[in-house]
Amino acid sequence: MFKRYELPPLPYAYNALEPYIIEEIMKLHHTKHHNSYVVGANAALEKIEKHLKGEAQVDVRAVMRDFSFNYGGHIMHTIFWPNMAPHGKGGGRPGGRLEDLIAKNFGSFEAFKSLFSQAAKTVEGVGWAVLGYDPLTEELRILQVEKHNLLMTAGMVPLLVIDVWEHAYYLQYKNDRGSYVDNWWNVVNWGDVEARLEKALNASRSLIIL
Ligand code: MN
Repeated sequence: MFKRYELPPLPYAYNALEPYIIEEIMKLHHTKHHNSYVVGANAALEKIEKHLKGEAQVDVRAVMRDFSFNYGGHIMHTIFWPNMAPHGKGGGRPGGRLEDLIAKNFGSFEAFKSLFSQAAKTVEGVGWAVLGYDPLTEELRILQVEKHNLLMTAGMVPLLVIDVWEHAYYLQYKNDRGSYVDNWWNVVNWGDVEARLEKALNASRSLIIL
């Protein structure tokens, strides 16, 4: 009844983000971790289908939680990969409409970067920092997401995300999440973030009834 999710290919080679994120991390992160969320989301869908057909009784609360976690993981990673660009092609400043909106909402690019970094560095346990577009106010927001899905706000369109689960940095940075976050800015693909903003500006009004 439901389509199954698929692991999207990385838009660059596994070693493309070196020296900031090493090949071994990228390979494991994509083929093992991201893939496990795809498998988990599909397994939850299958349980829901069996339940709908009366073929199996499932613990609805548990399967819904499972789906939210795994699908959240799939979506976040699917945005995270193209949010980064190979060494030499990423980093710097956004420019254009995105930087204008960042400056309008956060005061300056530097103030935005500082708050986003703090959000990423202080996630309790595992999670993400997210720059999102709020269609209700047509402003940008920074969110701190726990796991892949908790504290995420309905309707917020994610534009830029950073994974701060230990699997995203531990093999290279050990427990120094701060250095990982600081170095990660060197591979941010601002062109991709800008493209997501443009799409959100054009489409978001129809996503939520205002
Ligand atoms: Mn991850």
